[in-house]
Amino acid sequence: MERVFNFSAGPSTMPIEVLERAQKELVNYGEAGMSVMEMSHRSKDYQEIIDRAEGTLREVMNIPDDYKVLFLQGGGSTQFAMIPMNFMHKSKKACYINTGAWTKKSIKEAKLFGDVKVVGTSEDKNFAYIPKTTRADFDQDADYAYICQNNTIFGTRYTKDSLPDVGNVPLISDLSSNILSEEVNVSDYAMIFAGAQKNVGMAGVTICIIKDSFLENTNDDITTMLKYSTHVAKGSMFNTPPTYAIYIAGLMFEWVKNQGGVKELERRNNEKADLLYGFIDASDMYTGTVATEDRSLMNVTFVTGDADLDAKFIAEAKEQGMVNLKGHRSVGGIRASIYNAMPLEGVQKLVNFMKEFEKNNR
Ligand SMILES: *Cc1c(COP(=O)(O)O)cnc(C)c1O
Repeated sequence: MERVFNFSAGPSTMPIEVLERAQKELVNYGEAGMSVMEMSHRSKDYQEIIDRAEGTLREVMNIPDDYKVLFLQGGGSTQFAMIPMNFMHKSKKACYINTGAWTKKSIKEAKLFGDVKVVGTSEDKNFAYIPKTTRADFDQDADYAYICQNNTIFGTRYTKDSLPDVGNVPLISDLSSNILSEEVNVSDYAMIFAGAQKNVGMAGVTICIIKDSFLENTNDDITTMLKYSTHVAKGSMFNTPPTYAIYIAGLMFEWVKNQGGVKELERRNNEKADLLYGFIDASDMYTGTVATEDRSLMNVTFVTGDADLDAKFIAEAKEQGMVNLKGHRSVGGIRASIYNAMPLEGVQKLVNFMKEFEKNNR
């Protein structure tokens, strides 16, 4: 069986080079005489693996020294609760921009801990755009402002140049589906987090990047495992970390570096997205579901305008080795997730298929 082009939103495709390296090291890592899976997290070999993963991430993202990097468990979804639990405790007020699904879930959790002010929402058009906000929308005494940088389900995104102007409010952003896909200025944020299973490898680890001065605001009267300071104090090893997922993330960071870094991946991601959106815009059959200026580089959502035809498209693409193209149930239609590890060749094959399909189903 040949490998397919996997357009899954997550867990998602990984670079073959990373899979093959993991395979080579699977049974016996270096001189260890055992697999990474079998190692004590307190061993010297493992300490080197986690240190190298953090160091390479710092290098490829250009993370300033006054930010901590944590490798946590519980997925992006646990961050939805940990963030308000830790940080919503001075004014007990936070500003959220609602761009659908992922922010809705975050808002639900935050409401358990304080006052949530939704300062922008695109719910009126089923989250097909990024709502405009101004500095005046953000209460300057709020504990933080919160956005989802790339909405995996609806296919919208903020770029580093279109972040909301929040004034002096600390900005927290969910980069689960676009971390390392394009350049960001880490210093624009008080905190960034990302589950690994979209652009950073396998499920099981969540990366948190938090500014030291923001960490000083944390609430200490909360349960140990859900307190950021616990994990900062122990270098993400308060308890057994997801050792293998961190190892794989480390291989991914090295892969990013070897490709020429985030800048080069951003160039490739733009090339892939331009090819796909360009074709959608030129075609009579396909329509993008998102406002042009807010289109995601990672999750390309579109429809044929006929649900039966969408289903036929997805089925025929699968027969040709292009899988997981079904849109999320809340949007319908088709979604092609084209993360860092999706080669240009996969997108070219998809566009060629789309051309043929349009010709045959006019
Ligand atoms: C997938 C995803 C999440 C949730 O991640 P889990 O690890 O499944 O909890 C959160 N935010 C965004 C933007 C996502 O794409």
